Amino acid sequence: MNRVRIRSLVLFMTLITLTAGLAGCQKKEDPPGGETPETPDLTHLPFGGVSPTNILIRNQGSPNPDFLSLWLCGLPPDGAGADNADDWTNPDGTWDYTKKPQVEGNVTWNHVFDISLDGKGNRIITGNNLPNHPTGIFPIQKGTEAWNYDKNPNIISEQVVNYTLPALPQVASTPNCVFFGPAGFSLTGAAIYHGASTLGTDAAAHEMLDRFGGHTDGTERYHYHFPAQDLQDHIHPHEHGHSVLMGYMLDGFGIYGPYGENGELLTSADLDECHGHTHPVLWDGQMIDLYHYHWTYDFPYNIGCFRGTP
Ligand SMILES: [Zn+2]
Ligand SMILES: [Zn+2]
Repeated sequence: MNRVRIRSLVLFMTLITLTAGLAGCQKKEDPPGGETPETPDLTHLPFGGVSPTNILIRNQGSPNPDFLSLWLCGLPPDGAGADNADDWTNPDGTWDYTKKPQVEGNVTWNHVFDISLDGKGNRIITGNNLPNHPTGIFPIQKGTEAWNYDKNPNIISEQVVNYTLPALPQVASTPNCVFFGPAGFSLTGAAIYHGASTLGTDAAAHEMLDRFGGHTDGTERYHYHFPAQDLQDHIHPHEHGHSVLMGYMLDGFGIYGPYGENGELLTSADLDECHGHTHPVLWDGQMIDLYHYHWTYDFPYNIGCFRGTP
């Protein structure tokens, strides 16, 4: 009798210890996904155009996209831009975003932008391409630090934005190459360009961008090449879990910030050759299993190829 009682007590104590232990574990992990988000190391980023982060050009003999790479349709014949990144290149061949100058200034714009569903299966994007946040001063001003590296002479002007995209896009039977000009639109109202300059180099690593990761070009169109913190925070500061929607690419698929399903910081190695993946995301108010792109801090930054039909 006595022995049974002692046994029961031992069992009881063991249970208490186990329960306390479990509670302790739970407390440590609680609230789920509520930890401080992982922060990126912006000091060592791979240059696009250097293997394995290649810039592939279809009309120059690259018939297919590739993992970690950008698959362009072609290069314009009259490429221009900044090409010297020596002052922010590390000895190991990577580049340091924190050492690269930015185009300064806070110019505000008369932003016009609208995204709507027409009820017939289309998403209509209209606007003037002027962002709803301030930009740096363009043309890049003589005497500024950025001007020492990039003499971008172009202004920012209004553009006609009028796109009809599929509201619920489909994956195409084969991926499509990416062209110059807008590859998508940010929810801030301005274009998203792919990661290459017209010289066929990594635009974010070579060209002078403002604090939102954008600049302008010969078409006078303001556009983004890099998921700068100010751009992300302006759309929605990341707290936990999957990043929020940051824009639509021209095949209709969404592009999200750099955090994955469990709040982990994604790199291009976590994504497919088009720089996306499929899992449930919030899409027009519903959680559905859908392909989508992600911005990442490493090349090709936003899109590698179109998974759908642009
Ligand atoms: Zn550009
Ligand atoms: Zn995702």
